[in-house]
This record gives sequence, structure tokens and C-alpha cells, in this order.
Amino acid sequence: MNEERLKKILNQTFGAGILSRDGANYSVKCPFCKETKKDKKKFVIHLKNFKYHCWVCEAKGANIINLLSKLKPELNLNIYNFTASFEEEEVDTKVILPDNIVPLYENSNLSDVKACRNYLFSRGLSNLDIARWRMLTVESGDLRRYIIIPSFDSEGNLNYYISRSIDDKTYFKYKNAKVPKKNVIFNEIDINWDNTIILVEGVFDAINCPENTIPLLGSSLPPNSLLINKLKENYSNVIVALDADLPGKTHKICQDLILGGCNVYYCFPKIDQDFGSMTKSEVLNTINNSKKYNYNTKINYKISTIKSGSLL
Ligand SMILES: [Zn+2]
Repeated sequence: MNEERLKKILNQTFGAGILSRDGANYSVKCPFCKETKKDKKKFVIHLKNFKYHCWVCEAKGANIINLLSKLKPELNLNIYNFTASFEEEEVDTKVILPDNIVPLYENSNLSDVKACRNYLFSRGLSNLDIARWRMLTVESGDLRRYIIIPSFDSEGNLNYYISRSIDDKTYFKYKNAKVPKKNVIFNEIDINWDNTIILVEGVFDAINCPENTIPLLGSSLPPNSLLINKLKENYSNVIVALDADLPGKTHKICQDLILGGCNVYYCFPKIDQDFGSMTKSEVLNTINNSKKYNYNTKINYKISTIKSGSLL
């Protein structure tokens, strides 16, 4: 559905285009070419991964939606399904932080930066947390009034970021890097693979946890993801700590890890709570009371599901 819609928008923006024989690429007149060469349809857009390239002037980019948003802001392309299905596409672009980033651990006179710091303090974070997670914001642009938390791989290369709006009424609460999460171990740079690893859902959950916690950036651990492979490789001790409303997901992850040779424990925050909204000592207490997962756990879980509808 996205492809049809994208073609329509491309036609509106650049004039009618030509679809390649395999249906993957769409060629239109180039918006960057000099006037004399403009009529050639040599500006090629990949309809699935959104990369674009002009064969004449060599203009290129990783995301035609971004370009279209600049050329035609009135189309409001970032809204709704366009972004959603775009995020699921495998776009292997390099992750880049916006310009003008400002570290949040320093005091600032800029009102938006102050507002970001106050938002974090209001959530119970300390300046140490802010520095520990290398939190940033920007003075202007798309991510203004968003808390940016970057992720670095084991070699210190930026591989992801999440960003969270400090304004509750924003349409996009989160604006994250658009690369496949499957290939990301969030801040692997801080992880010691010889020690117990704690798995939580989100970055704000991880902030309230002890060191060596990895956020899944969701509630699943896909097979063949970089993270599960690494855990299996290290026969890790793992504590799975997802929200209590997802016992089925917790058990799926525990089972996959146990089959992969890991030593697995699990715990749940209180119902209707997540680690991000609990205090650090409550979180620590929950983690310290993790239970060992084994094959019987799975059986008990199935029986208790039948009996009571819940593990808890
Ligand atoms: Zn061109």
C-alpha cells in the first residue's frame, strides 16, 4: 500500500514517473539537476528502502520521505502509516545524530534545554543518570524538546538512538533511529558479557536498573537478533524482567534463552507498573527476588494459565 501511495506522491511532486521492469525503482525528473538536464527522468527512487539517486548529477540520499517532507511540507508525510511501515523496512543507513546537540548533564540558560533537564528530574533521574546515559537534546530542529539517548556498539560507534518528547501532548512520543533493531544491542559499550545480564523493555526501564541492563527496545527478542546470538555465545546468566502484563512474552524469551544454553531467571514489576516508574530500590528488590527459570516453569505456567488465566 505504501508503494502505491509513494508513487502517487512522487508523481505529484516531480511529474509522472517511470516504473522499472522489476517494479522496485521509480524514475522521475531530478529536482537537483541543472535546468538543461532537468527533463531526463534519471532521478531514481527505490520504492521499498526509500533510497534515491540521480544518475546525472549524483544527488543521493537515504530517505526520499525526508526529501519530500522538505520539498512539500504541506503533505505532512511523517504522519500515520507512512512512517509506521517505513520503520519496518530494512534500511541499512548509518545512524547520525542531528546537528547542534547539547549534552543534558550541564546546566543551560536555554529554556528548551532547561525544560528537558527538569523533565528528567521530575521523572526521578539524577544528574548522574543523565551523564551515565549520555543524554542529549538539540536546540532546534525535529528533535527539539526531545531527550535523545544514543547507543554505541562495543567499539564505540553510534548504532542507534531513542528520543522521547518531554511534552505529553506530542503526536510522536518517541522518535527513534530508523535502522533495524534486530542488529542493535543498546549501548553494548557498557556491557560486561561475563556478568549477569538484565533484559528490560525500554531504555527508561534500564536507567532504573543496576549496571549491565540491556533494553530490548520492545518486548521481544527475535531469533537471530544480534542480542540473542551474543547471549547464547556467552552462555550468559540472564534475568528477564518484562512488564507483568506480558507473562507469555517473558516465558517465550526465557525458553529461547534456555534452549540456547543460557542460565535464566525472571521477575516481573508490580502489575500496572514498569521499572521506569518505580524507584531504584524497588527495582533492585524485584530483581533480587528473581526466580530461576527451568522447563518445569514452562509447564507450571501452562497449567496456571489454564487454571487462573494468569501466572501471577
Ligand atoms: Zn540530478
